Amino acid sequence: MRNQLIKRKRYRRFSYLTDIRGIKSAIGELRGFGYPKQPKLNKDYLPQDSDTVFNEEWFIKTIKEKIAHHPANSMEFPFEGERIFDEPLVGFVKGDDSIFPEYKRLIGPHHFTPEEIMQWQARKNGITSPETEDLTVVSFVMPITRKTRDENARRDEWPSERWAQTRLLGEIFSQTFVREIITFLMSKGILAVAPDVTPMFNKKRYPHVGWASPWSHRHIAYAAGLGTFGRHNFLITEKGCAHRLGSFVVNLKLEPNRERPEDIHANCLQHQNIDCLKCASRCPVDAISDDGHDKEGCYQKVARSIKYCNKHYHIFIYGCGLCATGVPCESSIPEVLKKRASIVD
Ligand code: SF4
Ligand code: SF4
Repeated sequence: MRNQLIKRKRYRRFSYLTDIRGIKSAIGELRGFGYPKQPKLNKDYLPQDSDTVFNEEWFIKTIKEKIAHHPANSMEFPFEGERIFDEPLVGFVKGDDSIFPEYKRLIGPHHFTPEEIMQWQARKNGITSPETEDLTVVSFVMPITRKTRDENARRDEWPSERWAQTRLLGEIFSQTFVREIITFLMSKGILAVAPDVTPMFNKKRYPHVGWASPWSHRHIAYAAGLGTFGRHNFLITEKGCAHRLGSFVVNLKLEPNRERPEDIHANCLQHQNIDCLKCASRCPVDAISDDGHDKEGCYQKVARSIKYCNKHYHIFIYGCGLCATGVPCESSIPEVLKKRASIVD
């Protein structure tokens, strides 16, 4: 017990000074720097008969294996040995899907199309940019473990310690394993890029939109048929809304494996005229209502959590997720909507 207390006191005690990963992650997310160098394309690679076939199955298997076995998918003190994420969902969107130009209108003109981000990567590697129809966006959902969800569901003001660790270590893990996949593909002569770990990633504040990302994993995951938006603005997938999302672009033709619902709110009770708003009652700053999500109010609250996480958990990160836990859409599509969908089928 005494040892635990000493360890607790010492665990990243001066995280403002020492938690360089957290600081990098927070700044990198906003300003697009602090990331390792992009891997170089092996332009001289000569394909062999024995080469791996990079098809849909390969991407699904590789991402699942990374999440199941990667050493970086692990919590730190005092939760050593616990995984951060459970088995993922993986989906694909064609590079020339008409939804990407639409996102420029919806999210902001700065939101990349797969073609634009690939042009940047091609330029960097001194080659001609591939045709849009030869690109695919690979999107994945990493569900947060039950222990972390349950712990956060018991909080009503600030995120729990497991949630804060997931926010920081989970992001680092996600960037690490995606970089490994990109590096491998580039070594095999296949152009690939993860937009959120390039200097092109630069969040901006828009007059009517608030903070907006130039590459929204959420919108990409919706495009890939992995889920739909809830009242809290998170994506409700078949594994719920408590997750981290990721995506990257590859110069390969892969087939979409899921149908995208036309109704962008298909999995949310309130949007389907079934009284819920549990997410609204979980929000400590009333940033969710029947009228929508107050992005700015949410942003202000989440930004203030840096101080709390640093003081109590010695982690330099922000987070909240209270509205994504302790709600009917936390770990799956709400039962009543699943039943309704099966009757319609
Ligand atoms: S808690 Fe209810 S209203 Fe909120 S997003 Fe989930 S299903 Fe929709
Ligand atoms: S994430 Fe935002 S909307 Fe959700 S509970 Fe926290 S402050 Fe409220």
